[in-house]
Amino acid sequence: MKISREVWATARAQRPSRRSCQTALMTIMSALELIEPEPVPLDFAGAPIEITTGPARAHAVVDEGTTALCGTAVRRVLPTGWEWESAHPAHIERCASCLRMHPLESPR
Ligand SMILES: [Zn+2]
Repeated sequence: MKISREVWATARAQRPSRRSCQTALMTIMSALELIEPEPVPLDFAGAPIEITTGPARAHAVVDEGTTALCGTAVRRVLPTGWEWESAHPAHIERCASCLRMHPLESPR
């Protein structure tokens, strides 16, 4: 089945925007920021690649967002898929500013 450009454009225009979905179902999730990023060279199937590793800090984000709600670490956070309230691995610290904005019901 072929869809004409007009039908496709109409469907896209009627689709709810991501922003309106966020305001309706805003879920506070966590995302990780590498505090001291350190490049590590690796060999991947014979090709040299570089990954970045280092200690991490958890920030609060909306849904699977990549912008920390505290306003720091813009473009440097990686969504975890964990809800902000859920148990994180104990060695990952939480951002103090995000904690003030979104305190945990049962502090860990
Ligand atoms: Zn934060």
